[in-house]
Amino acid sequence: MEHASGTHSIFNQTPPLTDYNLFASDTALQEAVRREGAGWATPELHEAGAELGACTLYEHARLANRVTPVLHNFNAQGERIDSIEFHPSWHALMRGIIGRGYHSSPWAPGETAPSGAHAARSGVHAARAAGYLMQAQIESGTLCPTTMTYGAIAAMRRDPALAREWVPRLLTREYDARDIRFEDKRGGLIGMGMTEKQGGSDVRANTTRAQRSTDGSYRLTGHKWFFSAPQCDAHLVLAQSGTGLSCFFMPRRLPDGTLNGIYIQRLKDKLGNRSNASSEVEFIDAWATLLGEEGRGIPTILEMGTFTRLDCCTGSAGMMRQAVVQSLHHAQHRKTFGSLLIEQPLMRSVLADLALESEAATALSLRLARAFDSELPGEIALRRALTSAAKFWVCKRGCELAAEAMEVLGGNGYTEELPLARMAREMPVNSIWEGSGNIMCLDVLRAFGRSNVTRDVVLHELSGARGNHPHYDAALERFAAGIDAGALNEAHARRFTQSFVTLMQAQLLMAGATGASSRAAAEAFCATRLGESGWGAVFGASDAQLDVNAILTRAWDRN
Ligand SMILES: Cc1cc2nc3c(=O)[nH]c(=O)nc-3n(C[C@H](O)[C@H](O)[C@H](O)COP(=O)(O)OP(=O)(O)OC[C@H]3O[C@@H](n4cnc5c(N)ncnc54)[C@H](O)[C@@H]3O)c2cc1C
Repeated sequence: MEHASGTHSIFNQTPPLTDYNLFASDTALQEAVRREGAGWATPELHEAGAELGACTLYEHARLANRVTPVLHNFNAQGERIDSIEFHPSWHALMRGIIGRGYHSSPWAPGETAPSGAHAARSGVHAARAAGYLMQAQIESGTLCPTTMTYGAIAAMRRDPALAREWVPRLLTREYDARDIRFEDKRGGLIGMGMTEKQGGSDVRANTTRAQRSTDGSYRLTGHKWFFSAPQCDAHLVLAQSGTGLSCFFMPRRLPDGTLNGIYIQRLKDKLGNRSNASSEVEFIDAWATLLGEEGRGIPTILEMGTFTRLDCCTGSAGMMRQAVVQSLHHAQHRKTFGSLLIEQPLMRSVLADLALESEAATALSLRLARAFDSELPGEIALRRALTSAAKFWVCKRGCELAAEAMEVLGGNGYTEELPLARMAREMPVNSIWEGSGNIMCLDVLRAFGRSNVTRDVVLHELSGARGNHPHYDAALERFAAGIDAGALNEAHARRFTQSFVTLMQAQLLMAGATGASSRAAAEAFCATRLGESGWGAVFGASDAQLDVNAILTRAWDRN
């Protein structure tokens, strides 16, 4: 492509990557969807993939992050309004996500029974995860209220009043941004408030107090240091009440339409996730109702948190996929030293390694989502251990992958005109919020340490792939021996979690290795990730002999 300007011809610049189908061009995602019981969703995922690949959405994503939300505490008359003003592109993106149902689709009537039990249609969480993974390739700030609503519904359905009065309107696919009482709205969003100044991971340190009123409702006084999407119609919050830390349902507006006692102090000035408003708030006599048992606030809100942790993993997997696709597209167009980057052996090693990591993240996210589709004891045990493990590993790998992918694009990758710089800033937040890396690894230890069920379920799942690759067999033996020797200790929790996740990823890739290209990817993953010495400390540094051609062709099949 050559263009003339006043001073020079413009050539050897990569054309923009837009207007392609995110689903049709992603072989690994299509295979994972079928493997995890969501094949029935293929037509709607194709449709979503086409919509999401449109160039208008890339522009909305850029604008929503450039023109960031503004807090207005007061109106022209000096009355308190605590309202957030967003760029129209934010609203356009939100309309799309809600329209596709990623805030609630698995809970919709006809999809699942309470808590996901006896799914009327199997694979609903896996199908949603596939859509969410594509959505994450476009913009991530809007995922925050989306995932919080998805998770909150799981907890709210357990409360008969909320299940009756709130949940049905959360299931609609209408994005209603009006700041009015929920009773008059066509759809809604829910957030969560746990973190306080003195501690986020250790929420037992919360000082916000809840006072019971004579009618059984509560009044909360205190603060939250991080309170994302404060425009949501309600939040689940933690506060100390009579018998300990409890979970409360706190609407933004009271039934008479007036604002609840939630005062937004300011918005956070963040590295990334800039389209999304994250605030600091104070509660002064804020009205709320108890959700779950008094004193059992942590397990109640963690029911929500388990879903949002799944989405941290899936969201990072989505951004990884977009980073890989942008890298491959660039490498196919950019020439250096007389040939295309995609033809240069060292660049091919880097690209193949990135593609493997992305495919493994996709496979893992969808497998984890399937564990949410079932109430079989084995699946419950698996999701108990794998959710934290997958969140830890995929979100960490996503940070490294985004930085490497940015470099594939050279200087252009570092600029705001292309999405990779934004993604590199976006990746770390998935690792931090909803429980940061160490907290996730400590949770994995707890899951394995509590009973032998987790150990037995995980080893059973992993043993199915035995005999396919010598590195896999040896790594599985080391992993099993580590559990049996009681080697689970905090200092080595990251190492243990890494072994667990990479084995799970290898097992999934091998299970899906039914064709030549998927076999090449599975073989390469085992060769590079499971050797005793570990793989290269950076992408592209392995000395294993890989079928790079098959891996790259599989990774990017634009049609
Ligand atoms: C953009 C953004 C939006 C957010 N939105 C919300 C929101 O809407 N609602 C909400 O409730 N929270 C929100 N959070 C807060 C987030 O969940 C917390 O920041 C996070 O859980 C960590 O808590 P902390 O900041 O208090 O760090 P700390 O708890 O002080 O932890 C600091 C570090 O120490 C590590 N650590 C802690 N304990 C141990 C241990 N025992 N052993 C080893 N390492 C340990 C942690 O892994 C972490 O790396 C948001 C955060 C961000 C960045």
